[in-house]
Amino acid sequence: MVLDLLTRGALKRFRLKRALIYLPRVRKFDAEKLLGGLLVPGFDERSCLSRYQSAFYRKNLTRSPSAHLIKRLRQHEALQRRCGPGTEAYRAAAARLRSWRRNGTDVDAACRYLVLVPYRGLGNRILAVASAFLYAVLTDRVLLLDGNTSTGEIFCEPFPGTSWLLPLNFPISNLQNLTGDVRESYRNLVRNDSAAASLASTLPYVFVDLDHSCTYHDKLFFCDDERPFLRRAPWLVMRTDGYFVPALFLNPAHQDELHRMFPRKDSVFYLLAHYLFHPTNKVWGLITRFHSSYLRDSDERLGIQVRVFDGDTPFQHILEQILACTSQEHLLPDVVTQEPPRPSTAGARSKAVLMTGLSSWYYENIRWKYWQSATATGEVVSVYQPSHEEHQLSGYTTHDMKAVAEMYLLGMTDKIVTSGWSTFGYVGHGLGGLTPWIMFRPENHTTPYPPCRRAKSMEPCMHGPPFYDCRAKHGADTGKLVPHVQHCEDMSWGLKLVHPE
Ligand code: GDP
Repeated sequence: MVLDLLTRGALKRFRLKRALIYLPRVRKFDAEKLLGGLLVPGFDERSCLSRYQSAFYRKNLTRSPSAHLIKRLRQHEALQRRCGPGTEAYRAAAARLRSWRRNGTDVDAACRYLVLVPYRGLGNRILAVASAFLYAVLTDRVLLLDGNTSTGEIFCEPFPGTSWLLPLNFPISNLQNLTGDVRESYRNLVRNDSAAASLASTLPYVFVDLDHSCTYHDKLFFCDDERPFLRRAPWLVMRTDGYFVPALFLNPAHQDELHRMFPRKDSVFYLLAHYLFHPTNKVWGLITRFHSSYLRDSDERLGIQVRVFDGDTPFQHILEQILACTSQEHLLPDVVTQEPPRPSTAGARSKAVLMTGLSSWYYENIRWKYWQSATATGEVVSVYQPSHEEHQLSGYTTHDMKAVAEMYLLGMTDKIVTSGWSTFGYVGHGLGGLTPWIMFRPENHTTPYPPCRRAKSMEPCMHGPPFYDCRAKHGADTGKLVPHVQHCEDMSWGLKLVHPE
């Protein structure tokens, strides 16, 4: 009995000691898995493997979330749960929207919503969702996505215990066809500024058109400090195809809060994307199988994203641009014309090149270059391209799945070259926390000089920025108002976030 007690005591001490040894490791594992507190535990892991596995496919978290960002995310999750589809609050808000025209009452709703209508290619849509989400957090609105896209088949739900997809029986049926010309548009309301408040209360919702080509009046939204009429609108419907986060950083109404959420300004998309976008198991299978087969075991990985806006036919000047960029920036080794005396490659350093593009022609040429000749450095260069879809077919699930898988794979490389103007490329390097080398968009079918340049930050570029100083209330060069919002490398009028040194 005494012996038994002794052994039990020893066993307990042993377990405690073992627990103390393992605890920090378990904590470290959990912290990694949850991306430093960005994600909450408790989701069913098997239903969305990428959510907790993706951390182990990348290098360390490039930027950690601030405590304030984590707090705001937890608060926002609670809001989405309290007001999301299936709740009494949602049913009541949708019913009010449905019967608005009949009774026209302006109810001070407990839950306010932002319905996002993303469109165009996947890169555009991902940037739009990330921007709208940040706006929803800043203004305490529930974010719901128009479900008429492949989103649900590509990404898992980001918020626990609720859905971010707009129910199919949502009362406004023609969301994809809304334009800034509709009666409910923000454009019309601000044009009638004096009457806006009373006008807004006669409308069932306010529509914000943020297409990259929207008008001066639409863009006043970026200066909005939640005027009484906007705040009172229980439903905000927003149509956008791009990244508008830099404009939020220019709005005095949001500046303090954004600064607390993102003390470093160059990783806003990186953190939002890691919080929001978790590929579904099917897409995750595409990613992990390709990664294990072609990328994992190399000493170094280089991503090259080729996006051609002038048509689907291959262009010699673009091939030359890729070759010039990778050579001048020492991203790929030169080749020798003479066969080396000792062609053995045993023990040589290996470099895997992941190319993405709609055409396979650039990939075929670069692969042939390194197959035909040895490298001057002795490195072994292998070149891969997961797919070549030939044409953009956005909206088709398998096509979109490949596109997302390739963006993720680009984000799993060590260095990356992207094509200027491409939101596909922005998402690829943004997901990876990689500051890219951006290839300038060619003009007149000639290779630009220089062919590429290292970007100032890993942030995406906002293509249709406002040209208005919200504080001074007049037109301005918005790339010069605050040090952390500057013009983009690839689009001189675009805006991007940087972390000023
Ligand atoms: P952007 O047009 O370059 O700004 O990027 P988007 O992603 O918004 O739109 C381009 C669309 O074309 C993608 O979403 C894909 O559907 C398709 N696409 C373009 N480049 C690639 C590529 O490298 N791989 C794949 N699989 N699809 C691509």
